[in-house]
Formats: sequence, C-alpha cells, structure tokens
Amino acid sequence: YTRKIRRHCQLPAETIDGFRVQVHANIELVEEVAAVLDNGGEGIGLYRTEYAYMNRTALPTEDELVEKYAELASIMAPQKVVFRTLDLGADKAMNQYGDLNEANPAMGLRAIRFCLKHPQLFKTQLRAILRASANGNVAIMFPMISGIREVRQAKAWLAQAKAELRREGFEYDPEMPVGIMIEVPAAVMIADFLAREVDFFSIGTNDLIQYSIGVDRTNHHVSYLYQPLHPATLKSIKLVVDAAHQAGIEVSLCGEVASDPFCVPILMGMGIDSISLTPQAIPGIKRIIRQTKMRDCRELLRKVLECRTVHRINGLVMENIFNAY
Ligand code: PEP
Ligand code: MG
Repeated sequence: YTRKIRRHCQLPAETIDGFRVQVHANIELVEEVAAVLDNGGEGIGLYRTEYAYMNRTALPTEDELVEKYAELASIMAPQKVVFRTLDLGADKAMNQYGDLNEANPAMGLRAIRFCLKHPQLFKTQLRAILRASANGNVAIMFPMISGIREVRQAKAWLAQAKAELRREGFEYDPEMPVGIMIEVPAAVMIADFLAREVDFFSIGTNDLIQYSIGVDRTNHHVSYLYQPLHPATLKSIKLVVDAAHQAGIEVSLCGEVASDPFCVPILMGMGIDSISLTPQAIPGIKRIIRQTKMRDCRELLRKVLECRTVHRINGLVMENIFNAY
C-alpha cells in the first residue's frame, strides 16, 4: 500500500472533478530538500529559517546565509521557496539573547516582534533572502503579525535592504512576493485590512489554535483542549480564506492541520489555494485529494460549519473519510 501511495506522489493534487491544490513542503534545514522532491513536494511553502540560528554560539553571516538560501532556491527553481523570517522566541529559543527570559514567552518578544527590536539581525537576513531571490522563485513571509503597523515596519526594512543592495550592485528579484503568517486572532479579525498590504497569506494553525483556544501548544496537561476541529478554529480559517480571496490574494495553510487527513477535505471545501506540510506526509495527503470530489468537500464544509461542538464535527469528518475511501 505504501508503495502504491509513493508511486502516485509525483502526480498533481487534483480532485476527481478537476480542482487543483498546490502541495508544498515545510522544512527546517536545507538538507531536507531531497525528501521534498522524493515525496512530490511542489515547492517549499515554509522554510523555518530560525533552525540555522539555533544551537550555535555565533550568528550566521550574510554570506553564509546567502550560500544556503541561494542553493535551496536554485535546486527548487522554477518551483517556489517561501522563506519565513526568523521566528525565534517561545518554543524556538536562541541562547545569545538574554531579553528572551520572559514569564510568558509565547506572548512575548518572539518572531517579527523580536526582529523589529533587533533590526541589524533582521536586515542581515532580509539582505540574504533578497540576494537568494536572484537564483530562483523566492517569496518572503513574516511570522506572528498582529497588526498593520508591524507589516509596514517589516516592509520598510525590506525596502531599505533593497536600496542598499541596489547601491552595492547585488542582484535580487524586485518583484519578490511578500506575505504574512496568520497566527493570532487579531490578525484573523483584521484579515481584510491585512490582505491589502501583502501578496499572500499563510495560515499557521499550530499557533492560531494555541492563541485562539488559549492552550499552550507544548503543555501536555491541557493538550486535550488543543483541537484543530474546534468550531472557532474552522471559523477563523474560513474568515481568513474569504478575506484573502475577496482581496484577490492567495492563501496557504502551513500548520499541522495541513497533514491531517480529516482536516484537508474541509480546507479544500473552503477553497484553500495551497497547503504546506512535512515532506513525509505529502504522498498520503496528495492521494486523499486525488480521491476526493470538490463537490463533496463543499458539502462537508457546509455541514461542519453548522456544528456547535468538536464532538459533532469529529463525527462528521470520520463519516466522510469512511464513506469516501
Ligand atoms: C504554525 O504556527 O502553524 C506554523 C506553521 O509555525 P510554527 O509551527 O513554526 O510556529
Ligand atoms: Mg507559528
């Protein structure tokens, strides 16, 4: 059975009735690229760049980053690589920064907040990503955005990095798409405003579930409350997808939900443009999509959105999966 799934993994993720979803990969290290290609990944939807900064004493230099990033971009070209800027803090700590000793790190100085507080470190990475963009199809995205001002500040640093590179004679893609991750309820609620500031969204459900249900994603005492199929999670995702499409931008989902066979048909029903998941899960999810009808996904979504409890939703998705496969 595993062999059969693997044989099909290089085929497009297209439903029986002809709807195509892009299936991208999440990676933490450039070395994972072989697994991405082997498993039928159609690009990198989330490169968690912070891992190259962790477990080391000195910060990587711009040239060191360019070497890695450009290699990744050129191996994947013409397929896309989405570089997420540093998401340090909370569950991804870096020892050099004492200011990360916080009582509530998940709500503290993490991700884009941390980068905006350390502009030199941020700019080194922005310059490296821009320089890599000359070698392939590169996009950039900012994590943990909670308001318009953060997006504009991040974009201002990006503009400054571009101006510097231009002056210094480095090449980069002037049209490199800029996106943001939707990971906190504030961003969900203003998704319509945010959509006018960027080229794409990527929904980070690992954090969105944590912040919307108020449950620490690393705390096993409350893990029973960490529910991807909570009506609040599903309504949030739908709101973001609709806001993106209304503004004419693409929306992806790169949390663990994207590798959950029970959740993917619901995401398809919402009209998600792409999903990004761990490389090893791609063949199985592609197979599910190829055996699905969009008509059934929409019907499932309609029913699910009427449910008031996770319990009811779980029942519906189970029924759906057993009927379909
Ligand atoms: C997420 O929050 O869903 C996400 C993809 O980012 P990370 O898991 O790296 O926080
Ligand atoms: Mg996250």
